Amino acid sequence: MNNTATLYQDLERVLITREEIQAAVKRLGEQITKDYEGKEPLFVCILKGAVVFYTDLIREIDLPLNLEFMSISSYGASTKSSGVVNIRKDLDVDVTGRDIIIVEDIVDSGMTLSFLKKVFATRNAASVRIATLLNKPARRRVELDVEYYCFNIPDAFVVGYGLDYAEKYRNLPDIGVLHPRIYAKDE
Ligand code: 5GP
Repeated sequence: MNNTATLYQDLERVLITREEIQAAVKRLGEQITKDYEGKEPLFVCILKGAVVFYTDLIREIDLPLNLEFMSISSYGASTKSSGVVNIRKDLDVDVTGRDIIIVEDIVDSGMTLSFLKKVFATRNAASVRIATLLNKPARRRVELDVEYYCFNIPDAFVVGYGLDYAEKYRNLPDIGVLHPRIYAKDE
């Protein structure tokens, strides 16, 4: 194990290894490269959870593309969604006529991305698609098309590869299920 060994002690188990992630991100990059041939898409990274996935994904895409960052409210220090969506940091550019790919770490209830898709549609984007690392279909509370995802996962709270619990574990190279004893003491 490496210098993140202490973080691994807080995991119930590793769910997806770094090798599996790398292979899936490469496949997704190739797919997007094909689908957007001749276009110059705008990749919108949803801070902070998607950062690690985003930086890996864009380097697997062989197209001219632009980068933008957005921050929206999420769970805070809890493991349950509040259902409240708020833009904390908006884009720096006008998206009129642009092909947008929203890059997210995980789609859970779907509330965040359903809200964002509507926001970009009202700003007259030419198209809006979602690329998420993880997808929890069993937890969906709104109807949402998720065009690209790397892994469907069961209903468990996961951390690592950008995903946090109370701002920790983002630097874990693998994705793991957080041990319930870690958040039981906060709830
Ligand atoms: P949604 O609006 O789809 O319910 O929530 C999406 C956001 O919830 C994600 O961007 C992420 O911040 C958070 N989230 C949902 N499930 C998990 C999880 O298993 N682990 C972590 N770390 N965050 C999660």
